[in-house]
Amino acid sequence: MFINKFKSPNYNQRKNSKIDMLVLHYTAMEGSCEDACAWLCNELSQVSSHYVVDRDGTIFSLVDDSYRAWHAGVSFWNGSTDINSRSIGIEIHNLGKEEDFPKKQIGSLCELINYLIDRHNISRHNILGHSDVAPERKKDPGNLFPWIDLYAQGIGIWSNKKIEDNKSITNIGDKSKIIKKIQNYLKAIGYNINVNSVYDNQTKIIIEAFQRHWRPKKIDGCLDLETEVLLHDVFSQFKYMNKLDLD
Ligand SMILES: [Zn+2]
Repeated sequence: MFINKFKSPNYNQRKNSKIDMLVLHYTAMEGSCEDACAWLCNELSQVSSHYVVDRDGTIFSLVDDSYRAWHAGVSFWNGSTDINSRSIGIEIHNLGKEEDFPKKQIGSLCELINYLIDRHNISRHNILGHSDVAPERKKDPGNLFPWIDLYAQGIGIWSNKKIEDNKSITNIGDKSKIIKKIQNYLKAIGYNINVNSVYDNQTKIIIEAFQRHWRPKKIDGCLDLETEVLLHDVFSQFKYMNKLDLD
């Protein structure tokens, strides 16, 4: 299933963590996928991932799953900050500039993800994008990444709710109970957000990350009714939902 021709030295030991998360990235590199692999295997880059998926569906394995590859950087999810210690990183070869993901590539990626889910017993709510775990720094795997196609293969969490009302209901600086509720939902899902009832820049960026994953047809960081409905639905599908008091 994998090509083992590239091996990266950019890893260390996982810190007391069981693997329970997958983080998806795009390479955002010009040139071939092998060029991208070579960079991820270059000691100077100080970055790596466990797997890289080429446009034609070829999968390269760069770091053994048992090690901590260096793909997530400064990141956060559901209370933890050392995402590299608990995750497997998958790079998808894509320029990151409005380039569609070929069917073959997504097909192969789904096979790889299903293999990893079985192998490490990863739950469906822990399949995330780099943009989910580092929303203030990263946008990958990007606005065009087809999360819905993964869901069609049984991967991840999705919501089919649609209300076609995406007029913004807040302005920067607004303070309200609705904003507090939205922030609590985002926090319960796993995002790194301060619950302060204010629609501030951080909240806007995190709503944008949520939309990039769950409402890619309109990614503007604005709070609108459709985003609110989707957020509630996604939130209710997350296992650890009862940890928060949502009044
Ligand atoms: Zn990334």
